[in-house]
Parts: sequence; structure tokens; C-alpha cells
Amino acid sequence: MRARALHPDVIAVTSSLLQVNCVIVRGMTDSGPQAEDAPIQVVEVPVGGGGEAEAAETFVIDSPVLPEELEMLPSLLGQAGFPAPSGLLATHADWDHVLGPLAFPGTPLGVAERSAERLAAEPGDAQRELRSFDEELYLERERPLALGAPQALPVPGRLGIGGQELELHETGGHTADGMAMLAPWAGVLVTGDYLSAIEIPMISPGGGVDAYLATLERLRALLGRAEHIVPGHGPVLDRGRAAEILEEDLDYLHALGAQGAAAELPKGRHSREMRRIHERNVRSLPG
Ligand SMILES: [Zn+2]
Repeated sequence: MRARALHPDVIAVTSSLLQVNCVIVRGMTDSGPQAEDAPIQVVEVPVGGGGEAEAAETFVIDSPVLPEELEMLPSLLGQAGFPAPSGLLATHADWDHVLGPLAFPGTPLGVAERSAERLAAEPGDAQRELRSFDEELYLERERPLALGAPQALPVPGRLGIGGQELELHETGGHTADGMAMLAPWAGVLVTGDYLSAIEIPMISPGGGVDAYLATLERLRALLGRAEHIVPGHGPVLDRGRAAEILEEDLDYLHALGAQGAAAELPKGRHSREMRRIHERNVRSLPG
């Protein structure tokens, strides 16, 4: 596991498995003026009880995968001087992004409305997939994954954190559900499974090429406000690299839609595993 501070209020933790990124965000009460011109609706959604304003508040977005990585998260927050998290967030409902409750049992989990619907419609799926992953790798966990009833967050929207706000932006196309999160004061954009330097666009059940293309256009509009882009898997990107990957992914998806199996994979992303994902993408195409 690697941990890297992207900003005094943001730490990116990269799991040794699947290069899954977990992002720890702190909002302070008095960190300057807010941008007022963002074209999204304003909603107040307290995750984790809400109520009293605190000096600082921490959210943990997504999760590393290995048991010892999850166990180390609380002390990592402590060492960084971040308060214990008042909320866990997940970019989407895939099992490898919702393991936060293993590290912080009892801390409320907030997800996009569509992710909450998906978790409710597929009860036990995340646990089953985690179990088969663990069995394959002989991993043991101290406790089972308890997702409870996650809090459904309106997306697009904003989420108060300390005296700051996280912007929540809709994503889809990889799966049916998801949200990207922008911490505007820190210039950090957390995208979920979009804009990965190590993985081609993956169309999973519920996803689709058109929705994926629309998501990339929404993300493109956010890149100008981000210094660091943290994808669900793979290295943290600067704005320029993220823009390159975005164009490569657009090219690939347009080709996938038009040519199916004959579509060329993005350069640098055509390992055997990527070709397997491509084959699954082809099978997901309608008709
Ligand atoms: Zn993922």
C-alpha cells in the first residue's frame, strides 16, 4: 500500500492489489471562500449524523483491498492528524470500492442514489464477490463486510465536509451507478472507474457505451478545476495526462460502438487482461 498526500487535506492510498485507490479527504472550517458559480444543484446532506459543526471532518472515499491495508487506515488517519471519519463514501457499488466498513465498522456509508438502489437490488453480491476473491487468494478477514443500509446521496449535488463542500457528479457506463467527487478547494477529482492509465474502459452489466461517453464529457468539464485526478485503479494523474487518457478512451469507445471486436485498444493498454475486458465489452454491445 502506498499513501501520498495530494494536498494538506487529501491523501491518496493505493492498494497493492488491483491498484485500487482510496482517497481520504478532510474539510476544515475556515479554509477560504467557496466557488459560487458551479452549475449544479445545492443540497444539504449530512452523512454521519450531521448537526454540530466541527473543527474538521474526514470522509474516506472507496477502499484498499487487502485486510492489513484496511487495518492500517485508522492509524494512517491518526498519523496525518485527520479526525476519525464521520462518513465513508463509495464511487460506485462494485465490491472492490465498498470495503470501507471493514476498516471503520459502524461509520455510515454514503453512495449515489443509483448505487443505493443497486445495492438494495443485489443484496449480498458485494459480499459474495469479496468472498470468492478472498478464497482465490487465501485471504482471511476479521469480520464480514456489513454494508447495512447506505445513505443515498442526490447526484448531482454537494456534500458538506467540515466547512467545505464536496461536489458530487453523476457517472455511468462502466456500471449503471456512480459518482465522481470533486474537492474544489484541494483541486482533487476522484473519478471511480473512469480515466485509468492501466485499464481500458470496462462495460460491466448495467453499463453501456453511450452512458460511458456522456460520463467522459462530464469529466472533461471538470478537469480544468483539478490538479490531481484519482481514478478507481492506477496512478494518480495530472490534468494533462487525464486529458490524454480521456481522448484515448473516447476513441476506443467510438471504435467499439462502430466496429465491435475490431476496435483498436488504447495504446499501452493491450495486455492479455485488457484484451479479455475488450472481449467482454464486445459481448455487452446491443444486438
Ligand atoms: Zn473497480
